[in-house]
Amino acid sequence: MKFLESSRLARVPGLVHGFGQRVAGTREAAREAARATFGEAGAVFFLRQVHGCAVVSPPWTEPPDADAGIAKERGVLLGIETADCLPVLIVDPIHRRVAAAHAGWRGTSLRVAQEAVRALAREGSSPADLLAALGPGIGPCCYEVGPDVESAFGEAGSRFFVRGPGTRKHLDVTAANRAQLEEAGIPAANIDAIALCTRCRPDLFFSYRRDGAYAGRMISVVGFSKSSPS
Ligand SMILES: [Zn+2]
Repeated sequence: MKFLESSRLARVPGLVHGFGQRVAGTREAAREAARATFGEAGAVFFLRQVHGCAVVSPPWTEPPDADAGIAKERGVLLGIETADCLPVLIVDPIHRRVAAAHAGWRGTSLRVAQEAVRALAREGSSPADLLAALGPGIGPCCYEVGPDVESAFGEAGSRFFVRGPGTRKHLDVTAANRAQLEEAGIPAANIDAIALCTRCRPDLFFSYRRDGAYAGRMISVVGFSKSSPS
């Protein structure tokens, strides 16, 4: 399994992370491949993602219904599964804890990335210290949505909708999450994005819009290695 890296997060000592590319096989096989890749750094905990905004903290044996996690210890890694939705990785390099979120249009309209920042802040993290990386997701080139989606974002969110070739608008889910992270107090210079569209790049990614209900999932991982100094 090949992983794309954020240059911003790659500079954090002891941190491991990556946005996984597509691999053949079942979703469980993809999880196993990710666990194997990061096995030396720690255990990867996955969620049962439900397009909500709940934030949970591992360890667990059965994945809880949630779309964001925070990991407070070395060796505890978070895994997010996507196929068009945006994986959001957030790192506190000072206190050495991380958060990860799954943000499709529903999760973004519920501000799941901000909930993740808030959960870190409750543990004592300062948003001004946080770094964030937005992974590959469906781009504004391809993310045509209906008026119900725009209304879910309210008037303040209308700036994230752009004109498409037809009558329906396109959502820029990366821009919306970037804005939410900045609003939560993360400096703009600390936010990195992998600017690749999952639907435009079948060579690299699965895409729910392109591949349909049987699309596989990419896996994104973040956490501090168990061998890193505390
Ligand atoms: Zn595209």
